[in-house]
Amino acid sequence: MRHHVTLIPGDGIGEEVAEATLEVLKAAGVDIQWDHQSAGLAALYKSGTPVPKATLDSIRKNGVALKGPTTTPVASGHRSANVILRQELDLYACIRPVKSVPGVKSRYENVDLVIFRENTEGLYGGQELEVTKGTFVALKVVTEHACTAIANATFAYAAKHNRHHVTVGHKANILKLSDGLFLHRAYQVAEQYPGITCNDVIVDALCMRLVTDPSQFDMLLLENLYGDILSDLCAGLVGGLGLVPGANIGNDYAVFEAVHGSAPDIAGQGLANPTALIKSAVMMLQHLGEQTAAARIDTAVESVFLQGHVRTRDLGGQATTQEFTKALLAAL
Ligand code: ATP
Repeated sequence: MRHHVTLIPGDGIGEEVAEATLEVLKAAGVDIQWDHQSAGLAALYKSGTPVPKATLDSIRKNGVALKGPTTTPVASGHRSANVILRQELDLYACIRPVKSVPGVKSRYENVDLVIFRENTEGLYGGQELEVTKGTFVALKVVTEHACTAIANATFAYAAKHNRHHVTVGHKANILKLSDGLFLHRAYQVAEQYPGITCNDVIVDALCMRLVTDPSQFDMLLLENLYGDILSDLCAGLVGGLGLVPGANIGNDYAVFEAVHGSAPDIAGQGLANPTALIKSAVMMLQHLGEQTAAARIDTAVESVFLQGHVRTRDLGGQATTQEFTKALLAAL
């Protein structure tokens, strides 16, 4: 069956990892008609906006997109393309499976957890104002609707994927109303799932427990900012940002992208590890019902890491993006 998917290569290492991913998908024999669109800095230079209308229209038409990382300037400049996409398309659930990769040396060998990050509100509305001279306020928006939606998505995923425990990370000791609502809704939804246990941990203590023994966690349910921060922390537990995939899912659309950013420090040098985007594409194939191709790519990635000869620099090796991709194609 032919699929129609929007492709957004993005900025920085985006082109390099997207090219590698397309090669792998092609070799796996999946029939995809790609609609190439832009977002991020590239789009801003070309059309004056980080997310052109044509990009949104394409995703609305196709329902599914594969996206590389986009650059967002710090402390000034344009709004994040990611935030715009997630809010415009109501991609409220950000799903990031973090799993140890056999053959990849890291501090832990038995990590297998899934992060659910609320993707549309919290501090990410970017609503900031100067209330008096020298005093700024950033609005953290928390609604019953979004808290319920992300909690429902988390427990439904747990039930479907045979996971048994959800830990809610929060700061409801300080933010009693906003994080309090997030926590309260999670426990309410948990009542509908007697087979899945639910507990909560204050987010600072959660960081400490994660770096001490990540194997004690099964699923993490987090609001937007905590989910952002803990995603990178958890990537560090299994070997780094080059490995961890992600999906942004709403009721109508799905955008698959790696956890990592555009990595300007290594862009254009052929050093990027494409695994995170390739694994995001595996999640996309599962979403599209292409289970066989998804499993083939997954197995090929596993076997390259298990063989242990070909590694990109972030994992202590010497291989370029292309050399790694070549090894993956051979394994396929
Ligand atoms: P953002 O704000 O978009 O998250 P960032 O610059 O804070 O961007 P990343 O772009 O994710 O963060 O990069 C953080 C570090 O990880 C950089 O040193 C980068 O080189 C490295 N890195 C990220 N992704 C990869 C990758 N796919 N392969 C190799 N190294 C990577």
